[in-house]
Amino acid sequence: MATTPIVVGIDLGTSTSEIGYLKNGKPVLIPDPNTGSPIIPSVVALAPTGEVLIGTPAKRMLLSFPDRVVAEAKRAMGSPTMFTIADQHLRPQEIAAHLLRYLKQIAEDHLQQPISEAVVTVPANFTDAQRQATKDAGELAGFRVERMINEPTAAALAYGLDHVDAEETVLVFDLGGGTLDVTLLDMFSGVLEARTTAGDVALGGKDFDDAIVGWLIDRFKQSAGIDLRASADPKVSGRLKDAAETAKKELSGTMSTSISLPFLAIGAGGTPVGLEETLSRAEFDRLTQSLVERCRAPVMKALAAAKLTPAGIDKVLLVGGSTRIPAVKELIRSIFGKLWPTEVNPDEAVALGAAVQAGLKTQTGLGITFTDICAHSLGIEAIVSGRYGVVPGAMSVILEKNKTVPCSNMESYSTVSDDQPVVRIAVYQGEEPLAKDNKLLAEFEIDDLPIMEAGEVD
Ligand code: ADP
Ligand code: MG
Repeated sequence: MATTPIVVGIDLGTSTSEIGYLKNGKPVLIPDPNTGSPIIPSVVALAPTGEVLIGTPAKRMLLSFPDRVVAEAKRAMGSPTMFTIADQHLRPQEIAAHLLRYLKQIAEDHLQQPISEAVVTVPANFTDAQRQATKDAGELAGFRVERMINEPTAAALAYGLDHVDAEETVLVFDLGGGTLDVTLLDMFSGVLEARTTAGDVALGGKDFDDAIVGWLIDRFKQSAGIDLRASADPKVSGRLKDAAETAKKELSGTMSTSISLPFLAIGAGGTPVGLEETLSRAEFDRLTQSLVERCRAPVMKALAAAKLTPAGIDKVLLVGGSTRIPAVKELIRSIFGKLWPTEVNPDEAVALGAAVQAGLKTQTGLGITFTDICAHSLGIEAIVSGRYGVVPGAMSVILEKNKTVPCSNMESYSTVSDDQPVVRIAVYQGEEPLAKDNKLLAEFEIDDLPIMEAGEVD
């Protein structure tokens, strides 16, 4: 008997990735057989033996062979950055493909059948190039990427599946390892409609780790007189980062934590010097106050774009590991006047939502659907005359950001000179008034224009 194909849902995160599927109408995540946990560090390493390691063993190698490890490659998705592992040079999508191949393998072993289709989530604020790179990664790993959905929308979908009768306006606040996404959605009769989205593509748990690393370096300079900033040893920075992340996580549950890094540097006279510190929650809050404060603007932007005040939100869903930081929760409480009971697992919600969407393809009767939105405006470069006079190279927006996708719109443009035979159309994505300050997506020419006077052809 032929088995029914299973579509998997994948959260390909900056720090951690998960894979799941819809089992009898309920999304489930598949555990990594090596650790028993479905939460898999998004880390790729090449062991000295030549073996490619993924997840927890790869993350552990950051301490011993940092130059053989790549972490947080997602931050470079869609950019020309190359990663070097030993003698190999890899593009961000190739690193991502290693992770995806591993997830695929876990799923195939678990389900005992080949898997070829996947729904992959991406940050709501990802640009077209970043989405394309993610899709390429999926294909390199042997997946047909059935659909990409925005991470906050996926999280809301996981929540919505258990609340199909709810009529609520929900704000998803997703603070992960590298990015903050805020998305506002309306839920009614099983339909989830994303309304607005805002975010910060360079704000996440990593920045909180870096703040602790900076503090540790300062303290070590005071106590041992050694400046670790001057140390180019990647092992030292690997150990500092690892200790910082561990301390940060512990401080989500305790008021103080001790950090101990023996044999961190060589002191005067060749004796090894270690680092011993105690970091209090209060000190951590002070170090990261500006990072926490940066989370406010995207929330306010998403609300303003939806013409809502905090009082118009029925529920805030906290998603992403970094929402466990008490000061981040406090910020949400200060904006909305309250915190809601935790209804979604912050580490799993996005992947569970991807699994729901994956299952919607083959399983019916779930009673839920959704619409997504685009996070950036799309337009073309044009000469615009208006309030500021004639502006050459202006961004003429055709599809405003926060439009529900799929969408279409028509605008008319005219030629600028008599008998102009050709127009060049350059499509840009972004919010800057000058096209050149936005991201160029595509360029093409229309060259069979009829011969007419300027302004007549459109
Ligand atoms: P991503 O979606 O970017 O992969 P995750 O949602 O998995 O990110 O969140 C990972 C981030 O959450 C990391 O920076 C990690 O250090 C942080 N994190 C995980 N658990 C905790 C915790 N208990 N307290 C504070 N931060 C945490
Ligand atoms: Mg995430």
